[in-house]
Amino acid sequence: MTEPIPSFQDFKLNKQILNAIADQSYKTPTPIQIKAIPLIMAGHDVMGIAQTGTGKTAAFVLPLIMKVKYAQGNAPRALILAPTKELVLQIENNIKNYTVYCDLRYVALYGGVGPKTQIKKINEGIDIIVATPGRFLDLYLKGEIVTKQIKTLILDEADKMMDMGFMHQIRKTLEVIPTKRQNLLFSATMPDKVVTLSEEFLEFPETIEVAPQATTAETIEQVLYQVPNMRTKINFLVHLLKGEAFNRVMVFTKTKTTADNIFKYLDRIGVGEIRVIHSNKGQNSRINAVDEFKKGEVRVLVSTDVASRGLDISLVSHVINFDIPTLYEDYVHRIGRTGRANNEGIAISLSTPSELYHILKIEKLIRKKIAIKPLPSAIEIAKTEVAERQEMALEIDRQKRIENPDFKGAFHEKKRDFSKEKPKSNKKRNFRKGRKK
Ligand code: AMP
Repeated sequence: MTEPIPSFQDFKLNKQILNAIADQSYKTPTPIQIKAIPLIMAGHDVMGIAQTGTGKTAAFVLPLIMKVKYAQGNAPRALILAPTKELVLQIENNIKNYTVYCDLRYVALYGGVGPKTQIKKINEGIDIIVATPGRFLDLYLKGEIVTKQIKTLILDEADKMMDMGFMHQIRKTLEVIPTKRQNLLFSATMPDKVVTLSEEFLEFPETIEVAPQATTAETIEQVLYQVPNMRTKINFLVHLLKGEAFNRVMVFTKTKTTADNIFKYLDRIGVGEIRVIHSNKGQNSRINAVDEFKKGEVRVLVSTDVASRGLDISLVSHVINFDIPTLYEDYVHRIGRTGRANNEGIAISLSTPSELYHILKIEKLIRKKIAIKPLPSAIEIAKTEVAERQEMALEIDRQKRIENPDFKGAFHEKKRDFSKEKPKSNKKRNFRKGRKK
């Protein structure tokens, strides 16, 4: 019943990296990682067409760490260029996470702040530079960066870099780094400008693509409910499970804790046979739970993404996304459990205001809008606790900064307090602005 999926151990990554991956609780590589890591490790130039949320950063950072190995000399040996400060910081964060057990030095270079601290770090000796094209070139022209040891150049989100007008800086950069090097280019889309760029600097590239897999079957009805908080999500879930049509339901969560909590609560109030699977559950208990579910003896299976990957569970009547996955391909995997083999299936996503950002990214990935439905009036709308409200506001600020590095943070702006609003009609509860239902 379990399809063989490559594991991180199958790549020739060292123990330090594998331990760091284990710390991140990544259980299996994502499709882009399965395709890219062996090619990059074999020294190929690679052009990867993949969106954020597919695990693309690890796909190039992990083999890069293997190549750079350990701190050596003073001059950088790898350069990663990305369009925005936020993306540079995200990539730096990935490097930080995967090098906890390695001795490697890296620096993030971006504008909007004085260069002093960045220059100091470069002068102390550096192995990997992650930079926006403008700041990299500024510091190079100031004589602060020695480029002659750079053996790997990675361009991330090349399409966005082109949109932001970085072609000139990238061309200039290509002129000042050694010609003998490995080149990797990642882009979510392939407009002409990116094709031209790739022809200019990639040598016999291997092209890999994961976007086409991210299509969802036409037989799956996808709906979205905007829910103000976690408590209301639980109320809604209980409401849904009162429906008789919900006879073989998978409830997906991002974390083990949420999966356990939902399981315990539903089990206590009684919604029929229910099981939970996640990576802390023993292999046998997982296999039994899945078998019982497939035989129809279990009505509700609560699962994390990791636990369900590679399991042959299909013909599910309803998939409920209790939360919205941030590894966006997981959305496709989750809802693919229903609507198989021309059977109609329904995938229901419950999104808080701070998760709507991920819905937009998912819609981009699946190239489809997910229909929004009003919450049924029977649902009890719970008050949003202060801590949850603040957490959501901070998360929304973080998302805005990803999209616009100049965004200063609206945490202090007057926020709409959903918890204090009396739902007058279901129409009013459509938090997503500017979209038609
Ligand atoms: P990216 O597409 O690189 O922006 O990654 C999106 C998210 O997926 C990040 O939060 C990563 O930490 C996470 N991620 C990357 N690889 C894996 C994996 N193999 N399993 C689970 N999560 C992953």
